[in-house]
Amino acid sequence: MITIDEKRIFETIFKRKPHSVALNGPDALISKIQDSANNITERFGIPVYIIGDTCWGSCDLNTHAVDVLGADILFNIGHTVAMETFGEKVVMINAYDDASFDVVARKCALGLKGEKYRSISLLTDSQHLHQIACVKKIFEENDYQVIIGRGKGQLNDAQVFGCEFYPAYDIQNQIDAYIFLGQSRFHCASIAMSTEKPTFMLDPYFREYFRINEYAQSLQKKAILSVYKALDAGRIGIIIGLKEGQFAQVRALELKKMFEQLGKKTQLIALTDITDDRLQNFKGIDAFVQVACPRISTDNHFKKPLLSVPQALALIKLLRKEPIDDFLKIRHWL
Ligand code: SF4
Repeated sequence: MITIDEKRIFETIFKRKPHSVALNGPDALISKIQDSANNITERFGIPVYIIGDTCWGSCDLNTHAVDVLGADILFNIGHTVAMETFGEKVVMINAYDDASFDVVARKCALGLKGEKYRSISLLTDSQHLHQIACVKKIFEENDYQVIIGRGKGQLNDAQVFGCEFYPAYDIQNQIDAYIFLGQSRFHCASIAMSTEKPTFMLDPYFREYFRINEYAQSLQKKAILSVYKALDAGRIGIIIGLKEGQFAQVRALELKKMFEQLGKKTQLIALTDITDDRLQNFKGIDAFVQVACPRISTDNHFKKPLLSVPQALALIKLLRKEPIDDFLKIRHWL
């Protein structure tokens, strides 16, 4: 069960005495966020706004909505990062999943012995960070060497985002396999794509573990194919995402210049939600590049190629007749 750290919300409201507050978080937590909103209203009697737009990560905070609503604090729930606050208004609130990994971790530790993986690294997303220590103990009791990768920037030790993998990438030469705690194929697949090491997902609910590499390879192949499909594009639409943490105007202008130097025509487009439906409105564009969230390109289907930053850089290399190497095997896809 997922529990929101309401104690911290209450303490913050008690201390700062806001006139109104707003809450947001990932779709999967909205029903829990509704409960927290009711609890805040009951306790403090102030207006509480739930921002119902998508909120994919700490890169997607939506402080604009808070300003429009005139709320004094935005509690962003469920995206634990190394920072506790952003600016004056945003307070990051943890949401912990207490599902136990004991059974599945033991099962995995025994199962992988036959595969001769002796040195492993544990990784997870924000909801299970507090469970790393218990799972580490289980693997060590089963004679594995467990190495925990160091966090960097917003990432805590052992934590990965869907586009940022420092704790995994930086220790890849010291380990035989990665073990990801949680049900998120989204996070787990990116570890496999950025390292190409054996990567297993521990599902605490079904108490099963899965190797994710085949799924990751299917995403990887799709990403490579899109790059080749965009090779002959005459006009490229370069999309700047308007979500504040994904806003990369400078990067977009750099790519525009590079494509134009290679003889491509370009058009700059700004969008909040980059979906295939929105892209259908643009005529005369053969391929798109977006500098917002790389996973929009790798994990979704678009009728015309829609390249993320690493894919766009690979396309530029191809156009310059240079090898594209393993362009997704990097620490950060932005
Ligand atoms: S994968 Fe996308 S949503 Fe997740 S942190 Fe990166 S940019 Fe944000």
